[in-house]
Amino acid sequence: MTHIAFPKQLHVFIRDWLSSNNVLLRGRDDNVVIDSGYVNHVPLTLALIASRQGLDGAPLTKLVNTHCHSDHMGGNAAIARAYGCTIAVPESDAPLIEAWDTKTLLLEYADQSADRFVVGEVLCAGDTYVWGDLEWRALAAPGHDMAALVFYNPEHRILISGDALWQNGYGFVMPPEIDPAAMPATRATLDMLASLDVRIVIPGHGEPFTDFAPALERAFDRTAAFEADPRRFARHALKVVLTFALLDRRQMLLSDLPAYVERIEIYRDFNARFFQLPPAALAQMLFESLERAGAVRRDGGVLMAA
Ligand SMILES: [Zn+2]
Repeated sequence: MTHIAFPKQLHVFIRDWLSSNNVLLRGRDDNVVIDSGYVNHVPLTLALIASRQGLDGAPLTKLVNTHCHSDHMGGNAAIARAYGCTIAVPESDAPLIEAWDTKTLLLEYADQSADRFVVGEVLCAGDTYVWGDLEWRALAAPGHDMAALVFYNPEHRILISGDALWQNGYGFVMPPEIDPAAMPATRATLDMLASLDVRIVIPGHGEPFTDFAPALERAFDRTAAFEADPRRFARHALKVVLTFALLDRRQMLLSDLPAYVERIEIYRDFNARFFQLPPAALAQMLFESLERAGAVRRDGGVLMAA
């Protein structure tokens, strides 16, 4: 990241896997933040945005979301309260936010939370927006989230990719049995991204990177692996969601895990379609494969994200 030269009006606050990165664009007449992190991290998000590297006393004009998942929109309400700024979301997300559809938004459905907020502007694929004195072309990037947009600046060849492309993979995608459109859309989005001339990618999670072509190749490989094995897909999605819950709660009793996966709808749905296991066996399968991957650790009977 330190080796990557950004235009001076662009600053990235690198966050983690519970909170998305926040991109600040400081212009002559407007200041824009892209993505607001998770609701539990609101105090840190507000502090970063207000810091010297951030707004440093300047007003915030607009908050933009690449997509409306909890780790990208969790700070929306608090930031709008603090700055009185407009919130702009992808066009297809607007009705979900207005209805506060907690299932499609993967909130209650996946045991995640966000504070409700008001949409002030919708962003449309194909349109160009000027944020921080830079032109950003909004491009449809369905897959991980069917409403998602990415933002591309042709002048500096910068791609703000959200969870459509990371240095190593992308946000989990719903298996075909749950959403038949998601995987074909993921592939089409990667094809679309491959047609862009990109120098720097600012992903939703992880450091900005410049090895765009290898990252795309890794993403295509992952896509092929998922297409070959839908159960692996489903297991991956549940592992991601469970890791997120552990980061959110900080810890969970291993003995509570069977009741947890029986109570939270996404585990119930996926179990019924893919695994048909008793809750204790599903809990064990997820725990063991996360432990093998080094994503969780156990301290006696207490489970924590590693
Ligand atoms: Zn994310």
